[in-house]
Amino acid sequence: MQTTITNPVSSCLDSSCHDKKFSGPDLAVLRPLIYNCRPADVAAVLKKKHLSSDDLAVLLSPAADLFLPRLAARSADLTLRRFGRVMQLYAPLYLSNYCANRCQYCGFSAENKIVRRVLNLDEAESEARILADRGFGHILLVAGEAPARLDVDYLVELAGRLRHRFASLSIEIQPLSEEEYRRLFQAGIVAVAVYQETYDAAVYARVHQAGPKTDMAYRLDTPARAAAAGMREVGVGALLGLSDWRLEGLALGLHLAWLRRNYWRTGLTVSFPRLRPAAGGFAPLAEVSERDLAHLLFALRIFDEDLGLLLSTREEARFRDGMVGLGPTRYSAGSCTAPGGYGEPGSEGEQFSIGDQRSVLEVCQALKEKGYDPVLKDWDATFQNFSAANKVAA
Ligand code: SF4
Repeated sequence: MQTTITNPVSSCLDSSCHDKKFSGPDLAVLRPLIYNCRPADVAAVLKKKHLSSDDLAVLLSPAADLFLPRLAARSADLTLRRFGRVMQLYAPLYLSNYCANRCQYCGFSAENKIVRRVLNLDEAESEARILADRGFGHILLVAGEAPARLDVDYLVELAGRLRHRFASLSIEIQPLSEEEYRRLFQAGIVAVAVYQETYDAAVYARVHQAGPKTDMAYRLDTPARAAAAGMREVGVGALLGLSDWRLEGLALGLHLAWLRRNYWRTGLTVSFPRLRPAAGGFAPLAEVSERDLAHLLFALRIFDEDLGLLLSTREEARFRDGMVGLGPTRYSAGSCTAPGGYGEPGSEGEQFSIGDQRSVLEVCQALKEKGYDPVLKDWDATFQNFSAANKVAA
């Protein structure tokens, strides 16, 4: 039976792509699309060249578990054809661990008694210099969500100091307005990562107990605001371990499809953060094994072959090495999640513990042994001026 085509509920999926705002799907509607699939549905979808959102539901189903080797092979083939034998490397630079939110699962949560610190501009520049000396051309500026401690003015000034030293600057900070993202883009920040954490409204309300982040709708709309502001790339994702990963994967796919339809100029990436031990001792609400994570990554690659797929140092070296060539396009390396931690190893106040503790050189070596080129720079800020000029001309 072709559940994907005949189920009347499933036609709601692609129609949601036409909404003016991505409002987030009703997970109760998505559930039967995933859990009623049969192996024959999966086999049929794997014969298709272009997949719909309904097909993604099939690939995420328990019936697709039996097809994991075929999913891996298709994902590997698409990734090789689209991205070649390269892996872009990046490093996070933690600027501050102050946060106004109380997210139960995060070490930076306002209620946790940890050593708090916000780097001043000189300290941030010094941390960035260490990463530049290690060869990184791409850095991700990360901060807890505390605008009173770290605001847009700070980032504009920091970008001014760093933009000529790095090929690209990205941010993972509090959600901003479209106008604020536009200011940051003009200052030299070209990409924004903002993870929804969970598309399950009940779980979202349960784990986000206080602070601006309790506004789920505003967060859901943040990737669109960043894209509307002209950001070259927007990163989305769900925090794996909060809810059913299959449902989160389908909701994520719908969000991606909506963004593609409405902001086709913006590149999209997906991260796959699995919950790691952190201050506060939060226990995952849902199990997500390495096999599940791989399944989700393969399904999203097959669904959208242009996606950048990020696998961070949250995961163990063994798993990351095993995934090389199967779908991911970007790895973090040599990461530290505490502000000031590159210049002062062992600094307190980390967001979570790292799974892959290897140095950048060791990660590069492992990639080369698998026949892959570690790329520390594949973009130049000059292109940003060019594309901005084009936009004005258009
Ligand atoms: S997940 Fe983000 S918003 Fe929540 S406590 Fe951690 S840093 Fe703050």
